[in-house]
Amino acid sequence: MAIRNIIKKGDKTLETRCRPVTEFDRRLHTLIDDMKDTLESSGGVGLAAPQVGVLRRVVLVMETNVPEDGEEYIIELINPEIIEVDGEQNGPEGCLSVPGQYGLVTRPNRVIVKAQDRFGKGFTVEGEQLTARCFCHELDHLEGILFTERAERMLDPDELKSEGED
Ligand code: ZN
Repeated sequence: MAIRNIIKKGDKTLETRCRPVTEFDRRLHTLIDDMKDTLESSGGVGLAAPQVGVLRRVVLVMETNVPEDGEEYIIELINPEIIEVDGEQNGPEGCLSVPGQYGLVTRPNRVIVKAQDRFGKGFTVEGEQLTARCFCHELDHLEGILFTERAERMLDPDELKSEGED
């Protein structure tokens, strides 16, 4: 396992649509394990394969809606698709590929995602609030879309501080 370099905005890799995963082999597992290390060391809540330079449909999302005595955990999603959305949330959003910048983005409040696990087995998973936002943000990466394209406006650091106090 290894920490990979996170590609920053301006690199064309982040504007490219990713191809589906077809081989659920050791190479995929190494990619996922490296992405986990990279995400855990970054302090972020999600990571998509194109952010480490791999144009395949693989994302990781941190489930942060856990009981107080529970631990946050990482959901691995291969070839994910959003199959249901519900409600709306508007709030600040950032990205490991756009360090230090935040924008106001409207996302669904709840989503259901269909995906495959690292062995190719299908499953569905539901996310609410931050987790729903994260699913949408990471799946956008697979289409070559950054949150800066979705933001109604970018925030200055003072605004972010007051948003965070809500
Ligand atoms: Zn991102």
